[in-house]
Amino acid sequence: MRIVLLGAPGAGKGTQCKRIVAKYGLLHLSSGDILRQERVAGTELGKKAQSYMDSGALVPDEVIVGMMAGAINKASEAGFVLDGFPRTVHQAAELDRLLKASDEKKIDVVLNLQIDEQMVAQRMTGRRSCPQCGAVYHIENLKPKVEGICDNDGTELIQRPDDSIEVVMNRLKTYRRQTEPVVDYYKNKNGSTVYDIDANKDADEVSALVFEKLDALWL
Ligand SMILES: [Zn+2]
Repeated sequence: MRIVLLGAPGAGKGTQCKRIVAKYGLLHLSSGDILRQERVAGTELGKKAQSYMDSGALVPDEVIVGMMAGAINKASEAGFVLDGFPRTVHQAAELDRLLKASDEKKIDVVLNLQIDEQMVAQRMTGRRSCPQCGAVYHIENLKPKVEGICDNDGTELIQRPDDSIEVVMNRLKTYRRQTEPVVDYYKNKNGSTVYDIDANKDADEVSALVFEKLDALWL
């Protein structure tokens, strides 16, 4: 089974991805993780990506697609969940070409985690992190024992710049512009199954919705 997981920042992609791969024995292919691994390993593509990132530029599609192609080929037998890729319609089309070239395979299911802007803002701007140990809390959903203080080491918690309202809104805008069209790309394509999942609910309820869809396909 080959799954693409789409959803705005804050929709809970990471959490759902972990649960899906654990339940169905699939591989988790996160574009962020793969990019990190390639850079650490110093591969050709990793070096290329690094040079763009050093200059503050976005890593171009061809580099991203090249890295994902390697990971996808290795994971092809076991099946996988793609997380953070494809991020643009162009990447989605490249992915199709890639899968087709290797044994006429295709993406079986697209899970589209849908979330309201207001909920994204609430989830992400409520995050507080420990600069010492990296623990992450939330001012409403995951409070530390003492307000503003890390449970592990007593360090004062901070809001990372990534979690500020300006940055979050910006990422959301980029998502709407670049990645939401990917959902339509799959919806308009013959033979792909797209499920819209309400991701405004809590993580367990979202998992239940996801599993219900996937269980039906596994029969
Ligand atoms: Zn800490």
